[in-house]
Amino acid sequence: MPEVTVISEDVAELALGSEVLRAAVFRPDVTNVEPKEFGRRLVGRTLRATGRRGKIIVLDFGEVVGLVHLVISGRVLRLPEWREPDRMNTAVLEFEGEGEPLVLAFTRLWLGYFDLYNLGEEERHPLISRLGPDPLSEDFTVQYLASAFGRKASVKALLLDQSVVAGLGNIYVDEILFSARVHPTRKASTLSRDEIQNIHAATRDILRRAIELRGTTFDSYHDAFGETGKFQRQLKVFARAGEPCPECGTEIMKSRVAGRGTHTCPACQVS
Ligand SMILES: [Zn+2]
Repeated sequence: MPEVTVISEDVAELALGSEVLRAAVFRPDVTNVEPKEFGRRLVGRTLRATGRRGKIIVLDFGEVVGLVHLVISGRVLRLPEWREPDRMNTAVLEFEGEGEPLVLAFTRLWLGYFDLYNLGEEERHPLISRLGPDPLSEDFTVQYLASAFGRKASVKALLLDQSVVAGLGNIYVDEILFSARVHPTRKASTLSRDEIQNIHAATRDILRRAIELRGTTFDSYHDAFGETGKFQRQLKVFARAGEPCPECGTEIMKSRVAGRGTHTCPACQVS
């Protein structure tokens, strides 16, 4: 069996209810516990649920909760058999399986991590305690967005700010603002109620569509959805500089906003 990239639904489907037989990390700096502790705390536990908080994958092992941040180039791979962690496969978990072993590798955790917390203590994780609401949660209301937008920063910078909304990456923000017909450089405090409503609706619509098309990696709204990216083909402005706008035919422009490559239609998006 070759190595296969898996996404959250697959991990849940493959490993939910299964016991961890082996677990190890390559280097001490990719986890918050001693490397020996990493295996000791996971082996014998059963994966009860998988979820996501912003860009962080949450693996619920009952009394122990794993928080995984893959950052940009990280992936979850299914390996043919157990392999000691190395530079590439930074953390490796083997689950009990029927017949074939289920070995998952969390790759390239150099900038990311696979941290372990006792149940309940994960809320103290700095990235989680500072996170804004998930865009698909009840807390993400038009009213909330309007209050978060009462600032002079650009609307793009605020949408990328994880403490305002959890989990939106650069690609999604460009697509959301195109759909809402709002230019990314607009100061958030100058947006009308209608524009805020449009941004709110576009955020939910685009994320739901991306999830339906499984156009995202394991950590869901992550920008790096190369392999499974059916959603990528639906992108209207991102990475389409020089092409005609799908709405009006004007050439899509690329610029830099909030330090990120930004794609806009200068005719459709009000600046
Ligand atoms: Zn246009």
